[in-house]
Amino acid sequence: MPNIVVIGAGVSGLTSAYLLSKDQCNHVAVVAKHMPGDYDIEYASPWAGANFMPMSAAPGSRWERRTWPQLKRLATDVPEAGIHLQKCQLYRRHKDLERLQSDGTSLFKNVFAEHPWYRDLVDDYRDLQEDELPQGIASGCEFGSVCINPALYLSWLVGQCRANGVIFHRKSLTHISEVRSLEVLGFKPDVIVNATGLSAAKLGGVRDQTVYPIRGQTVVVRNVAPNMLFISGTDDGENDACYMMTRAAGGGTILGGTTQSGNWESQPDPNTASLIMKRAVSLAPELTGGKGFEHLDVIRHGVGLRPGREDGVRIEKEKVDGIWVVHNYGHAGWGYQGSYGCAEEVVALVNGIGIQAKL
Ligand code: FAD
Repeated sequence: MPNIVVIGAGVSGLTSAYLLSKDQCNHVAVVAKHMPGDYDIEYASPWAGANFMPMSAAPGSRWERRTWPQLKRLATDVPEAGIHLQKCQLYRRHKDLERLQSDGTSLFKNVFAEHPWYRDLVDDYRDLQEDELPQGIASGCEFGSVCINPALYLSWLVGQCRANGVIFHRKSLTHISEVRSLEVLGFKPDVIVNATGLSAAKLGGVRDQTVYPIRGQTVVVRNVAPNMLFISGTDDGENDACYMMTRAAGGGTILGGTTQSGNWESQPDPNTASLIMKRAVSLAPELTGGKGFEHLDVIRHGVGLRPGREDGVRIEKEKVDGIWVVHNYGHAGWGYQGSYGCAEEVVALVNGIGIQAKL
């Protein structure tokens, strides 16, 4: 019976543990410094929107392609997962068109592509007609997507794992090999899954120095957005973004945001917050019934650090101090929308190690 310890209880670790625990032959434990219910700058998952709006280029799209049917199924058939179906509208501004084509580093570059690969994947994709576009907008599209309430969804994943017998243990590790001597688990791991997100930069045995934060500041409000709305740029700065989405089941509406690479600041900046709110209400005056941004009803200001990585996500196995480690970290701004695809790959790698060990 393979013993597997997953380090990390964000969406990457929990989805990996969930899929691994579906195989009754596996004995799975999750060890993490932060668990669902916590809000901390070292824990990206609770701060996410989170929706399905593919960010990969077509050749790298397999994680998101594999995840869409699962999220749609949960939104349709499993209300307790905290995901609902939502229309998503994207607007491309005239003034951003050139930058979108030339700037390969922008987080949202592929999202705003004129003919994105995901048009055949999501529901009812269509280009918006000219008379549907606000002033200053060159083109836009609309499609059926989902919006996840992270507080409910992460807890739901924990529940699914526990129902499958997964053990949860809270601990801050300094070295990946520490899990080998955790007596509280009642077993010694044969395989470790490393889903530590941005902290892969600090964890002993990994110390991946190519991992970096992409800071996202947000405002969560009680006001309801008409649809999920995203615009290709703002006049406030290159790292400022404008988007909104109303989460399922009372999770509030998240107004974003920023995409500040290399910025570790954990505290919300009041000026940035004010700009985020003004931009959102100017894009969707319905948010406050036309009364202006002062009428937004704020639940909280937030900052989350998306776990960026220079070469993109790391999903591979390596031996650390004589034990197999399967890595699953570095998902930047698409950790939810790629979560099932990535976790399936983790399961395949873990199974491959098991088969190798038996030979
Ligand atoms: P994390 O959630 O950071 O979890 C890491 C886990 O590892 C934690 O449990 C932590 O405690 C544990 N850990 C780390 N180090 C140690 C250690 N040494 N010892 C023990 N435990 C450790 N994605 C989408 O798909 N759609 C969206 O709409 C979206 N919107 C976003 C909006 C914002 C503002 C932000 C910030 C992110 C957004 N994302 C979105 C991205 C998404 O949130 C991340 O990609 C995802 O949460 C990463 O999850 P993770 O599990 O890899 O890492």
